[in-house]
Amino acid sequence: MAFKRVAAVTGANKGIGLAIVRNLALEYPSSAFNNGPLLIYLTARDQGRGEEAIKNLQNDTQLKKAKALAADGGLATIKYHGLDISKPKSITDFASFLKKEHPDGIDIVVNNAGIAMTGFDINVVKETLQCNYYGTLQATTSLLPLIRQGGRLVNVSSTAGSLSSKYSPALRSAFAATKTVSDVTSLMEKFTSAVEAGQENEQGWPSAAYSVSKSGVTGMTRAIALEERRNGGGRLINSCCPGYVKTDMTKGRGMRSVDEGAKTPVMLALEDIGGVVGEFWQNEKIIEW
Ligand code: NDP
Repeated sequence: MAFKRVAAVTGANKGIGLAIVRNLALEYPSSAFNNGPLLIYLTARDQGRGEEAIKNLQNDTQLKKAKALAADGGLATIKYHGLDISKPKSITDFASFLKKEHPDGIDIVVNNAGIAMTGFDINVVKETLQCNYYGTLQATTSLLPLIRQGGRLVNVSSTAGSLSSKYSPALRSAFAATKTVSDVTSLMEKFTSAVEAGQENEQGWPSAAYSVSKSGVTGMTRAIALEERRNGGGRLINSCCPGYVKTDMTKGRGMRSVDEGAKTPVMLALEDIGGVVGEFWQNEKIIEW
């Protein structure tokens, strides 16, 4: 089949990522982005879990009822591809695969994969930043050049990374003043050094790896979007928070279903958002970082 649109979603074997894949398939036909057959790469770090998710989607009653999948006469085809965003080589391998398979480019990337570990020490900080910040950053910079003009890149961040009183006023200002990726990365490095020295609270940081990693994701996405605009590029790059969603990450304690959580990322991927770039969204609206 000749695909007219190509999308990729990270961490898509379960939770919000899986719901993003399902809702892309369901909403694409009536969206502003519809241009013919759509291929969605459901990516996951574990092949067994990824392929199991694909099998479940093939039997998904909602997808069947909506005739969303090409197998039922619809527009969407969903394929598995391995991707572990904590492993730099896995990201470069996936980017090379996409480049070879889709030399004319792809259209949508949703960087959803993320972790929230329990406890707080330097190992938790390093592992969390490696996945949520550095992994999402590398996936963004590796996949963005493959996205055609007018395409979308959506990074799933969190209001846990909002610049609230969890930071000292000086750090809040430092985050707010970031303009480039290296400005943001240097704050992630300062946080790591502060934790290594056992000084994070004295230096104005919270003892919260996840929150800091997500501040990084929101800031880094804004910086990359600003750079895209400076370079005259037309890809729409934004970050968002899905809200508090019932998933394994929240141990089922969220207030929203995964479909509700997928709403804003799917809107940013498919709908007319008036050309907005570099903003942080929740509940389908722009909110303060
Ligand atoms: P889940 O824990 O349910 O799912 C996380 C997904 O990410 C899983 O598919 C997991 O794969 C995958 N993943 C984890 N690490 C990696 C990695 N290194 N490479 C590739 N995939 C990986 O979480 P949610 O669905 O709740 O979270 C999705 C996103 O939404 C995250 O970025 C999270 O931070 C964000 N978010 C969630 C909120 C919520 O209330 N749930 C609130 C705000 C933000 P595996 O099954 O192999 O572990």
